[in-house]
Amino acid sequence: MNMSCGVIRDLLPLVAEDLAGEESKALVGAHLESCPDCRKIYEELKTPPAPAPDSAEALRAVKKEIRRKRLTAVLLAALLVFLPLFALFARSTDMVAVPWEMDLMRVESAENGTLTLSVDGRVSGIESELCTDPDSGETTLLLQGWSSAWHDAHTLAPERGSFTVSSVPDRVIYGFGEKQKLLCGEPSDGGVQVLPRLALGYYLLISLVAVAVFGTLWLCLRKKKAASALRALFFAALSYPVGHLLVKGAQTMSFSLPRDLAFILIAAVAVWGLLMLGWAVLQRKRAEKA
Ligand SMILES: [Zn+2]
Repeated sequence: MNMSCGVIRDLLPLVAEDLAGEESKALVGAHLESCPDCRKIYEELKTPPAPAPDSAEALRAVKKEIRRKRLTAVLLAALLVFLPLFALFARSTDMVAVPWEMDLMRVESAENGTLTLSVDGRVSGIESELCTDPDSGETTLLLQGWSSAWHDAHTLAPERGSFTVSSVPDRVIYGFGEKQKLLCGEPSDGGVQVLPRLALGYYLLISLVAVAVFGTLWLCLRKKKAASALRALFFAALSYPVGHLLVKGAQTMSFSLPRDLAFILIAAVAVWGLLMLGWAVLQRKRAEKA
């Protein structure tokens, strides 16, 4: 019987695995004697498959895992050291509004077009803004003193300094809001308000809204595909108010918006890294336990 190569090749795997009957084996054996092509295929089938990834590869994987764990630990430790130090630096150099107190500032003279005020040593610097009422043409000088822990630590004995303005406004007001103090002139009927730099307050509010939105979305969709992206967004949103708290405390007023914002963002990025790494470590611990 002259079997075609096609039929023999269908049988080859069975013979190679020793699953074929005696008759098929004999048939295939006879064909292989006379057909080098089929013999070649048979030899290939007989040779054992390449050995599974050897132990060297497994070792490499373990080493990689150890490296990753070590890197995570080092990063976590670095962030845990950096954040409090950075917060301490930011807080101690922060410009904090000095609320009105008795005798904090006094108008010494208002002559020859120059206004001179004496300032208590508790104040490190003064922000001033001259506002003109468009209707009456009256001018109001708004003053806000600030101080910093850094400055206080370096001021042994507070001295009175002086602050001069090269024009004499109709009135001088210290502070803002409820705690405004009229230093000279008539009270304004229009109710002039210093516009403190409140942008940080708005950013804080926006970030808290984002925390609520992404937090809720993550909770609702934590079993879904988008969960990890939502978690990263939630952590990012959360790190802004935490960064604000670390850099500014409960204060939202800023005397230097670029400085404050940059500091808050640096702290927020560190907090975000801490949250992401911490979460990854927690998940791995949980997986190892399971
Ligand atoms: Zn053949």
